[in-house]
Amino acid sequence: MNTQELDKKYVLPTYARVDVEFISGKSATLIDSDEKKYIDFTSGIGVVSVGHANERVNKAITEQIAKITHISNLYNIAPQAKAAQKIVEASGYDMQCFFGNSGAEANEGAIKIARKYGEINGEVKKYKIITLNHSFHGRTITTVKATGQESMHNYFGPFPDGFVYAENIAQIESLLDNHTCAVMIELVQGEGGVQPQDKEAVKKLEKLLKSRGVLLIVDEVQTGGYRTGEFLASQVYGITPDIVTLAKGIGGGVPIGVVMTSLKGVLSAGDHGSTFGGNYLSTVATCEVMDILKEYKESGDLEISTLFFNQAVEKLQNKYSEIFTQKVGIGMMCGLRVKDAETLTKIITNAKENGVMLLKAGRNTLRFLPPLTITKEEMDEGFKNLDKAIESL
Ligand code: PLP
Repeated sequence: MNTQELDKKYVLPTYARVDVEFISGKSATLIDSDEKKYIDFTSGIGVVSVGHANERVNKAITEQIAKITHISNLYNIAPQAKAAQKIVEASGYDMQCFFGNSGAEANEGAIKIARKYGEINGEVKKYKIITLNHSFHGRTITTVKATGQESMHNYFGPFPDGFVYAENIAQIESLLDNHTCAVMIELVQGEGGVQPQDKEAVKKLEKLLKSRGVLLIVDEVQTGGYRTGEFLASQVYGITPDIVTLAKGIGGGVPIGVVMTSLKGVLSAGDHGSTFGGNYLSTVATCEVMDILKEYKESGDLEISTLFFNQAVEKLQNKYSEIFTQKVGIGMMCGLRVKDAETLTKIITNAKENGVMLLKAGRNTLRFLPPLTITKEEMDEGFKNLDKAIESL
């Protein structure tokens, strides 16, 4: 049986798979089983931020696994402690980290910290968490419920109580009550359509929550790791959240999730844990990714690439203004609103045929999430392929 047949027979059908099998990659270039070449504007949905088969990450991993891969969180783990230091220092916040394996798990940790804080501080038990419509926070039972999309609340119930949805940031104030412990937001809604929040509204929200003793959780699973120009989108917005979650791009392809918080004394031994979280394999990769991206940012190369990439997206929008109604996003997390969902599907399919991989977000957004270290040549080739794909619609 070939891969597709094996997949059909043995893997649960939870994904509508695109009919392609990649066998190797380098930087933002992928090769499929027919040796066809593609430019990758998806980076595995914002994961391989330093590109496919990154030599430095691979070297760090192979050197580490030749010594030790996993030992459990009962003992000190040097790369975990170092990764935490690098993450906290890059954020500029006075925080500590907990390591899990995914974005959803990071958000679960954030919810647990907020709920315990809400239970031990104050006269009444604070447990409610306000999230936004069109948000996406994960696929576990709790994070599905935290996700502000009705369609994701079919089946699987009963869900944990206490999630409240706001239409937008302005509506949050009217939803706060004595039982609210936290507000959880994405600063740029990724899955919801690459939609950035308004900067002033976010700053106002931060102030409001501080004055009401309600925690601010920022889900940076997709925005984190320099995707929006700084290590965290929270830094781009100039805010100081109480809790931040990370995953995707900080592992360079190795599964990792992080919840970091300034509320250092809330969780104590036994309150939370993870068998695999923060093991040698994942954190040694994260240490290397953090170093590469810090150098990339400090050299000015991230800014140059981001500028070039965004100019190319704008050029496309101007050329096909009858198809693309708006450019959205921040930094290397950008999108083009497409006039209708049907055209968007055609663009993505045609793009694949023409050798460039792209994503959909929300109902009608063409989403670009390239590796941050994509080369200029790869960008040129990817946009040339995409132009061809749109021209042939
Ligand atoms: N939060 C945000 C903002 C995300 O974009 C995602 C995944 O797309 C998640 C959480 C869930 O992450 P994971 O799939 O690693 O559990």
